[in-house]
Amino acid sequence: MRIGIVGAGITGLTAGYELSKRGHQVTIYEAEPIPGGLSSGFRIAGWDWTLDRFYRHIFAGDREIINLAAELGARLTFTSPKTSVWVNGKPYVYDNIQGVALYPNLPLPLNLRIGVVVAYLKYLVRNGTGLECITAHRWIPRAMGQRSYQEIWEPMLRGKFKAHYDRVNMAWFWARFAARTKRLGYLNGGFQAFIDRLAEAVRGNGGEIRFSTAVREIAQIGDQVALMLPQEKSVTYDRVLTTTSPGKLRETVVGLPPEFGDDLARLKSMATVVLILALKRSVLTDGTYWLNLPHGEFPCLSMVEHTNYQDKAHYGGEVIVYLGDYLPADAPEMGLGTDELYARYRPALIKVCPDYEDGWVRDMWSFREPYAQPVPEVNHSQRVPAVGTPIIPNLYWACMHHVYPWDRGTNYAVELGQRVARWMAQ
Ligand SMILES: Cc1cc2nc3c(=O)[nH]c(=O)nc-3n(C[C@H](O)[C@H](O)[C@H](O)COP(=O)(O)OP(=O)(O)OC[C@H]3O[C@@H](n4cnc5c(N)ncnc54)[C@H](O)[C@@H]3O)c2cc1C
Repeated sequence: MRIGIVGAGITGLTAGYELSKRGHQVTIYEAEPIPGGLSSGFRIAGWDWTLDRFYRHIFAGDREIINLAAELGARLTFTSPKTSVWVNGKPYVYDNIQGVALYPNLPLPLNLRIGVVVAYLKYLVRNGTGLECITAHRWIPRAMGQRSYQEIWEPMLRGKFKAHYDRVNMAWFWARFAARTKRLGYLNGGFQAFIDRLAEAVRGNGGEIRFSTAVREIAQIGDQVALMLPQEKSVTYDRVLTTTSPGKLRETVVGLPPEFGDDLARLKSMATVVLILALKRSVLTDGTYWLNLPHGEFPCLSMVEHTNYQDKAHYGGEVIVYLGDYLPADAPEMGLGTDELYARYRPALIKVCPDYEDGWVRDMWSFREPYAQPVPEVNHSQRVPAVGTPIIPNLYWACMHHVYPWDRGTNYAVELGQRVARWMAQ
């Protein structure tokens, strides 16, 4: 078959790789000049490795991406970096049993209750989708106690989902415990190096990737699917996969049934903005890699010192720090330039590292994306069309909303690309 794919993120590339391996003629269209989408990275002179635009790692149980990396000859390294939360004016390690038991702001019985409930979710609940009929906002206080919820989980939910914090379902919360591990994996050379290998493998199978080519419209013509490209060009395919957000799907597909368009409009998601600093000195001097910042107390949600995880020698000896947040797509921060974002997030650096000086900054960059984190509401599984069901004849759709109950992630993008390819090849 002649197959067109919209988007050279990990989902589109994986689907393209699988379909081209099966002998189909694949063309991938990507709006940006490089592959990778949310997982793409960049490199400046003096760095051996690319740096991801958005902080990232994988987990030890992320089987699909681990297997694909091995198939493509990409190397992965697993370590157990320090991940902490900001408690009483300092980082506190909250990713192990001892950390939970000794959490300073709650009495021991409540800490133990949290530990028991987390163990129940992680080890005893096999399929958490059954929990999707209730919100985390209702379930957690009942199971772990109101005080624990207010101290720990409510700020986490508010930080990530802002005004939607009380709408997120319990299956999403379960998946965080079920899938996450203390050991974290990183792709040598940065995720972009892995993505470049994946793109090369698509080409090696006879596939083509056209960069800087945004698909403007998708329409059915007879039993074919047409893609409208820039400069009024159009191409038809036997089957098309689009990997864009629900909003973009709604904008680009011509003749979408109105009730389906309304369903898409109801799917919520968060945007993201990230400031990256290349510094002369460390700000998380206790060696913390990932620091969760409490909602309301800091101007951003996370401070990630990447070089407390990967060797700074890969980045010309610079200390790399990410400051990031999830926001509504129309939040004012989404429109800030890099300098303005630095001015906004600077108080977080000073609070965490009182010695911090502006003179430590060697370089900085900022990135923002409108579709970064789906908001899985109650009964989410019934609100998103199944990956194997064409939207219109021969048009398939696979995006981050489909990996539920798992939280979006590169492993699930690989799994999703493989899954949709199987359906499309039938
Ligand atoms: C802040 C942040 C942190 C994250 N951290 C991690 C992490 O630590 N570990 C992890 O595993 N995952 C992480 N993720 C998730 C991971 O980035 C995503 O799950 C994954 O990259 C999604 O891939 P995708 O191909 O489905 O979507 P995308 O990467 O969004 O790909 C879609 C592609 O479609 C292209 N496109 C859109 N419209 C058009 C058009 N009209 N024509 C042509 N092309 C178009 C886009 O440019 C893009 O390249 C993180 C995500 C964010 C936002």
